[in-house]
Amino acid sequence: MTGTVQGVGFRPFVYRLATELDIDGWVRNDSVGVLIEAEGDPARLDVLTRALCDDPPRLARVEGVEVEAVLPPGGVAGFRIAATDAAGPPSAPVGIDTATCEACLAEVADPADRRYRYPFTNCTDCGPRYTIVRRVPYDRPSTTMAGFTMCRLCQAEYDDPADRRFHAQPNACPTCGPHLSWRAPHGQVLAAGDDALRAVARALWEGQIVAIKGIGGYHLAADATSGVAVDEMRRRKHRDDKPFAVMVADEAVARDLADLDPAALAALSDPGRPVVLAPVRPGGPLAERVAPGLVEVGLLLPYSPLHHLLLDAVGRPLVMTSGNVSDEPIAHDDDDAVARLGPMVDGLLTHDRPIHVRCDDSVVRATERGAQVLRRSRGYAPEPVPLPVPTGRPILAVGAELKSTVAVARGGWVVASHHIGDLEHLATYQSFLQAIDHLCHLYDVAPEVVAHDLHPEYLSTKLALDLDLPLIGVQHHHAHVGSCLVEHGRTDPVLGLAFDGVGYGTDGALWGGELLVADLRDSERVGHLRPIAMPGGVAAIREPWRMAMAWTAAAGCADRAPSPAVDEVQRRGVEAVVAAGQGPVTTSVGRLFDALGSLVAGRTVATYEAQAAIELEALARRVDRADAPRWNAGVAIDRSGPMPQLDPRGLVNVVVDALDRGVAAELIAAGVHQALGSAAAALAAEAATARALDAVALTGGVFQNARLTDIVDDALVAEGFTVLVHHRIPANDGGISIGQAAIASARGG
Ligand code: ZN
Ligand code: ZN
Ligand code: FE
Repeated sequence: MTGTVQGVGFRPFVYRLATELDIDGWVRNDSVGVLIEAEGDPARLDVLTRALCDDPPRLARVEGVEVEAVLPPGGVAGFRIAATDAAGPPSAPVGIDTATCEACLAEVADPADRRYRYPFTNCTDCGPRYTIVRRVPYDRPSTTMAGFTMCRLCQAEYDDPADRRFHAQPNACPTCGPHLSWRAPHGQVLAAGDDALRAVARALWEGQIVAIKGIGGYHLAADATSGVAVDEMRRRKHRDDKPFAVMVADEAVARDLADLDPAALAALSDPGRPVVLAPVRPGGPLAERVAPGLVEVGLLLPYSPLHHLLLDAVGRPLVMTSGNVSDEPIAHDDDDAVARLGPMVDGLLTHDRPIHVRCDDSVVRATERGAQVLRRSRGYAPEPVPLPVPTGRPILAVGAELKSTVAVARGGWVVASHHIGDLEHLATYQSFLQAIDHLCHLYDVAPEVVAHDLHPEYLSTKLALDLDLPLIGVQHHHAHVGSCLVEHGRTDPVLGLAFDGVGYGTDGALWGGELLVADLRDSERVGHLRPIAMPGGVAAIREPWRMAMAWTAAAGCADRAPSPAVDEVQRRGVEAVVAAGQGPVTTSVGRLFDALGSLVAGRTVATYEAQAAIELEALARRVDRADAPRWNAGVAIDRSGPMPQLDPRGLVNVVVDALDRGVAAELIAAGVHQALGSAAAALAAEAATARALDAVALTGGVFQNARLTDIVDDALVAEGFTVLVHHRIPANDGGISIGQAAIASARGG
């Protein structure tokens, strides 16, 4: 049996079933999954096979079963769990980190249980996996638990096929397992065990900022209901406006803080325990600067016994943000945590179970179309995804530059890494190299082909060129469409609407508002947003007012547009650059949204990626779609060139007029979404119809915008198209590595 079958309690499950059914033989982990030799009544063997496929353990995912006769029968008596076969090449998928199960929680809460209040309680149904695995096959010596020798009682559980902890590799108890310590900022131990937990709870209660070691790394924590604590966190972390995630004790508290529909509730209690973005309830207890200017808040439930005990002790929602300074990788190593986080915090709650792989919290948004993963990391990675076209040769895909992930593909599968971050930081780049090594090692992939982005300046591209292996360059937006095709298991061509920040185009320009006719092999550009120069290049990404100057100048309304709140000399300088048409040319819809967000929301400098665009969406979502102004005529389709272009200059004019007339920002933002969404859908429908394509893929970072997605989706569905949107694979650059791998695979590896 193949799939996620190791480290999920599969062998004990097989053992129990086989024993019940009076079947002889053995089960063992091998390099590709689980191997079972079963001998007995054919009807019962049938029952066993069906039960394993249809009703496997909670965390298992059976992907393949091969059955063959073993003749003559071995004649073994009884059923046993045999030693792992380590001889073959290790390629079995590793389990994912999973939230504490109900049975373990009950033990932690039971004063009579030997694991009462023990923060590292786990079993075969729950606990850390990917973050503690050093190599495969997945056995205790291959994990960071290798240094903890099980006590007599734990060993007995581990050895007892009838026990919930049979072969649970991270099995531990207060006698033999890891322990907490509460440390001063410079690392000195101040308290241990339950005293450490009480100390950190008191610190949080008093409004202090603390670091907490979790499953995939350190969090920085603070009382989310205290404005003073939240402001202090922002000051120390050098994070101006980017929203913080909030951990809440349970679903009831979550409902008090946010409007949660069934999709959001399901995502919240998913065993992967992602951060779930949901509309915030006005007037709630959260400090206002938890998510400044936004309509959504990111909530997550406790996912380790430590978190449960902590939330219980503090009794308030906690900001739980990644343990790093600004955009560096999160700290997961204890010395590194003291060095980097120590100066920012009033204390650290740490423990002695090492984290092998750094893994951020995953992020999911609940939408009308169900949950969409925006960041695929802890609790989701490394879940293998089937390739629409299997690969003949092992592939390494190195991804893009921002929100970096890497992926390896072999046979019919692609596995993407956890979220690595933005490669421009040296520490992140090193983490990127480690992720490649780790993934290749775990899945025993010796890459024979490297798939990469076409951008010559991406560090991922430079690494690919250095590897001395055959290369397959994949255009950025083709990779975006490819990732969406993987998601839907599709090989037929579609019309791809790739709306994005910027990605390197085949003509060397910075694309980001593209219509592509694409399958997994080829893509052809058949339309795009009207090109515009980005004044100051990348500076225009950080300072969206520059894009506002460029677009208002292009639309001929610069003189009527509100003057950006920036230095006069700087403004004149940019005015001159715009007038001269200087700067790299882009067709990015993301940059257009930045420009409009800057105009409408008054955002001059983005303190996090796409802030102006995100604030524009937040404004729009305050208005019912039906009440949005109909400015659809503002976006024209220009057919004068070799391919149609979306020309939004009329809309820019309408927006400037509306601002001048004092129309509410929310209404303007809603009108902008309506107009751009309708025009994009109309052009996509036209291009798809002309080529007899029945499906449109909505991809790229801009399609994280829920309002825009709703408008485009509805319009295209009304025209009879199948609309492919992202669910499990991020629409942003975090999905690029999977798209690259799938395209390289379809091109013959
Ligand atoms: Zn458990
Ligand atoms: Zn023990
Ligand atoms: Fe992109």
